[in-house]
Amino acid sequence: MTGPTLVLRERKPEGTQVEVRPGLAVGGRAFVVMAGPCAVEDTAQMAEVAAAVAQAGCPVLRGGTYKPRTSPYAFQGLGAAGVRMLVDAAGRNGLAAVSEIMEPEDALEGVAILQVGARNMHNSALLKALSLQKRPVLLKRGLAATFEEWLLAAEYLLAGGNDQVILCERGIRTFETATRNTLDLGAVVLAKQRTHLPVIVDPSHASGRRELVIPLSLAAAAAGADGLLVEVHPHPSEARCDGAQALLPDELRDLMRRLPAVLGAVDRELWRAPARRRAAV
Ligand code: PEP
Ligand code: MN
Repeated sequence: MTGPTLVLRERKPEGTQVEVRPGLAVGGRAFVVMAGPCAVEDTAQMAEVAAAVAQAGCPVLRGGTYKPRTSPYAFQGLGAAGVRMLVDAAGRNGLAAVSEIMEPEDALEGVAILQVGARNMHNSALLKALSLQKRPVLLKRGLAATFEEWLLAAEYLLAGGNDQVILCERGIRTFETATRNTLDLGAVVLAKQRTHLPVIVDPSHASGRRELVIPLSLAAAAAGADGLLVEVHPHPSEARCDGAQALLPDELRDLMRRLPAVLGAVDRELWRAPARRRAAV
């Protein structure tokens, strides 16, 4: 027997909730939006974007500091210094942080959710190392991974003892070139049906185009996803990576304003920070 087992819905019909921190879980009734820049660039950028993310009512700040770039000549991220900027900006705004881990040794103190990127979904050594801790893991689907391969990567985490796993569909590589990737919403629905794990959608890498991000986010909510991982940048034209797919802060607010109607239609609700906290930032 080599197929997925521990991740299957029949193992836990009620579903898994991943506790990001007390009072904030992914996989419950509330739809959780994680937003922030592709990469942490400097403290001013992080202060600006973290305030915008908090004001929009999102509970989690994203920001890559160990960046898996396709080209060795592209910006590789700020590493540990970037992690400190991310965690500091998140903390000042009452947000939890999510960031990518590329090697077990990467220092990610204070980061609530460890992201395994698409390029590392098949990295079984990394998955085994992460399976030994209880920290939440956001597992992206590989660039050309089948549904079964994605589930088996999650199975590595559960097999080692970590069931705090969030699946993330971020588009797959197909013959289509009009969009950066092809968002596979069918796989999102299937993953919700076949597994007990929370499933979120990354509409930014799935499309590569800012103007598609809000419509795809609404579609993900309608399809039953448990949340989103969205790129946002206060000055996309100056972004060191993925500027073309970054929402502007105003657009993030617009997305948060439009989500409740769609979520209501599928009997879900949007997780929003209490107004008091938003007013305080
Ligand atoms: C990211 O979210 O920063 C990222 C690199 O995405 P992916 O691994 O999906 O390409
Ligand atoms: Mn990116």
